[in-house]
Amino acid sequence: MQKTKDIAIIGSGLVGSLLAIYLRKRGHEVTVFDRRQDVRKVEFSGRSINLAMSNRGWSALRKVGIEEEIREIALPLDKRALHVNDKPVYFQKYGKEGEAIFSISRGVLNRKMIDLAEETGAKFRFEEKVWDVNLAEAKIYTGESEKAEWQEYQFDMVFGADGAFSRVRHKMQRSSRFNYSQNFIDVGYKELTIPANEDGSHKLDNASFHIWPRGEFMLIAMPNLDGSFTCTLFMPFEGEVSFEKIETEADAEKFFSKYFPDIKSDISNLTRDFFKNPTSAMVTMKCYPWTYWDKVALVGDSAHAIVPFYGQGMNAGFEDISVLDDLIEKHGDDWETIFKEYQKSRKPNADAIAELSYRNFVEMSSKTANPQFILRKKIEKHFAEKHPEKWIPLYSRVTFSNKPYADALAIGDEQREIMDEVMQIENIEEKWESPEVAKMILNLIESFLEKTKH
Ligand SMILES: Cc1cc2nc3c(=O)[nH]c(=O)nc-3n(C[C@H](O)[C@H](O)[C@H](O)COP(=O)(O)OP(=O)(O)OC[C@H]3O[C@@H](n4cnc5c(N)ncnc54)[C@H](O)[C@@H]3O)c2cc1C
Repeated sequence: MQKTKDIAIIGSGLVGSLLAIYLRKRGHEVTVFDRRQDVRKVEFSGRSINLAMSNRGWSALRKVGIEEEIREIALPLDKRALHVNDKPVYFQKYGKEGEAIFSISRGVLNRKMIDLAEETGAKFRFEEKVWDVNLAEAKIYTGESEKAEWQEYQFDMVFGADGAFSRVRHKMQRSSRFNYSQNFIDVGYKELTIPANEDGSHKLDNASFHIWPRGEFMLIAMPNLDGSFTCTLFMPFEGEVSFEKIETEADAEKFFSKYFPDIKSDISNLTRDFFKNPTSAMVTMKCYPWTYWDKVALVGDSAHAIVPFYGQGMNAGFEDISVLDDLIEKHGDDWETIFKEYQKSRKPNADAIAELSYRNFVEMSSKTANPQFILRKKIEKHFAEKHPEKWIPLYSRVTFSNKPYADALAIGDEQREIMDEVMQIENIEEKWESPEVAKMILNLIESFLEKTKH
C-alpha cells in the first residue's frame, strides 16, 4: 500500500474521473475540480455526441472492475457500412469474429464515471475553475474569474486532466525546456442527428459504423441506445466544397441532395440543425515533459490531444491511467520515478497514435470507396485469416490489441510497403486468393523480418 496522498485532479471529464477511481482504489484522498456544472444535472440538449470504445479503453475499465457496468450503455459495431452513391451498401468487417468497437454516448458515459468515482469516495467540486497552479508546491488557485479573488488549495500532488486547452499545461509551458506544439487541421466537423423510427428502432443497421466517403469530406453515423444515430460531417472549412460555401438553408439542401441523397430525408431538421449546431475545429497537441518532479502530471488530452479519425483519444487517455497504475504498483511511494517512467513510456505511443489518427482521415474519406483499396484490405484480411501469427492488420493492432501504438505504427508501415508490392502483381484482382500471392507475401515478410530482426 502506498502512503496516502492528498491529490487534486483538474477536470472531471472521462480521463479525470477514471483517474479518480484508480487513485481512490489505492487509498488516496481525491478532489476533482471542474469549471463546468455537474454533467449529471445538465439536461441533455437532445444531441448526443458519441465515442467509440475499443480494447484499450475496456482494459483500463476492467482493471478497476467497472467494465461490465459500462458495457450496459454501449452498442457493439463489428463492421463499417460504406455508402457510395449509386451502389449498394458495402459492409467491411473490422476484425475477426467477435471483435467490435463500441458506440457509447459521451454524456451518459461521463455521468456514469462520475457516479462511480463518487461511490469510491472521490470528492467533486463543480463550477470551480482552476486559474493557476504553483507547480513546485502543488497549490492550485480557483475563482469566479481571472480578476476575482482566488481561493488557494494545498495538495500533495496535482493531475491535469483538463483537456486539450489545459490550464495546468499552460503553466508548465512557462518552464524552461518545455516543448509544445499545436496544429489545427483545415477540416472542421458538425454534428447532426438521425432520430429513431416511431417504434424506437434504428433507421440504419445498428451494428455498423456508417461512412459516406466523398473524397475531401465524409459523413459518418454511429448508433445510440435510444434508436437514434449521431452523424458527423467532416469537411474543409474553406475551399470548393466546404463549410464556408454553405451559407443558406437552400445551399444546405442542395449539398445534401447532391452528396448524401440516400440519407438526407432521415436527418432530422437538417437545415435548421446545420446552422444551429456549431462547426468545430480539430487539433493535434503535443508537449513534453508531461510531469513536474513528483508534484504534477498531465493525463489524457491535456498531454496529447489528437484528431478523432482513429477513435482513440479517450482510449489512449484511459491507457495512460492504466500504465500509471502499473508503475504505482511497481515503484510504490517513489512518485518521481513513477512520473518519469510514465512520461517516457507514454510519449512515443501518444505521438504514434497522433500520426495514425491524422493519416486515417485520408483513409476514411477518400480511400474506403476506392476499389483498389477495398481489394488491398480483402487481401490483407484473407492472408491474416490464413496466417494470423504472421499478419495482424494495422487497424486491429490499434483497436483490438493492447500492444504499444508505436509498434502498430512501425509494423503498419512495413505492411504497407509489402502490400504496395503485392498490388503491383499483374491481374492481382483475379488471383488475390491464390497460393502464389500468399507465398509472395510470406517471402516479403521474411525479408522484412531479416532486415529489421523483429
Ligand atoms: C468529434 C470527436 C470525436 C471523438 N471520437 C472519439 C472516439 O470515437 N473514441 C475515442 O476514444 N476518443 C474520441 N474522441 C476524443 C475524446 O473525446 C477525448 O480524447 C477525451 O474526451 C479526452 O478526455 P479528457 O478527460 O482528457 O478531456 P476532456 O474530455 O476535454 O475533459 C476535460 C475536463 O476538464 C475541465 N476543465 C478544463 N479546464 C479546466 C479548468 N481550468 N479548471 C477546471 N476544470 C477544467 C473541462 O470542463 C472538462 O470537463 C473524439 C473527440 C472529438 C472531438
